[in-house]
Amino acid sequence: MKPLQRQQYNGGIIPFSGGIDSAGVLYHCLRSNPEKYFLVMKVCLYNSISANRMTKEKEAVHNVIEYLRENGIKNFEYKELEYHYPSLEIPPLWDSEIVYFAAATCVRAYPEISCLYEGVTADDYIGEGDDFDERLEKYASILHLIADRNTGNFRIEMPLSKLSKLEIMQMLPPEMLKMTWSCRYPVPKETYSYKLERCHFCPPCKVIDKAIEQDSNLNII
Ligand SMILES: [Zn+2]
Repeated sequence: MKPLQRQQYNGGIIPFSGGIDSAGVLYHCLRSNPEKYFLVMKVCLYNSISANRMTKEKEAVHNVIEYLRENGIKNFEYKELEYHYPSLEIPPLWDSEIVYFAAATCVRAYPEISCLYEGVTADDYIGEGDDFDERLEKYASILHLIADRNTGNFRIEMPLSKLSKLEIMQMLPPEMLKMTWSCRYPVPKETYSYKLERCHFCPPCKVIDKAIEQDSNLNII
């Protein structure tokens, strides 16, 4: 029997949370490399407090994926992975560590993947400096270890690391920006409401609110 053919992910893998930074990287990579084909991956992490956040992130991811396809940007395949660990009250791992572990398993499954695109921005370094670099090195180590790769045969690229969150927000098409979700702790709009809104207290909310103050044309709730 002839083996099933699939398109090779020669562009690399793009973890997409649904937030502004990874949406910026996703949009940038797909548009700048139309001849390449990418694996876009959402890792859903359900711990004891993240249900609201996952609801909004998944909604954002699905809307953005549909928006891209409707606008002729189709050089990617989308996959979703879910991990449930609600019994752990305080997760002992950073979310990104689990995302890199999941990405590494995909890299093992698709040997042609030789690059991961990370949604780091200039704002991520504010206040953290070298600590943030250390964190990124740890993520890279997880990926190299689990995927059995090294710095010689696998790259981690951060194409928007020189841009601020404000600049990325201005770069994204307004319609797509509006679909993103970056708040870590969405709250019900009112008592007994299923509608969730941004908390305005978590670090991403603070950066977004500051960006809106600087540019009132930004189309985000
Ligand atoms: Zn928030």
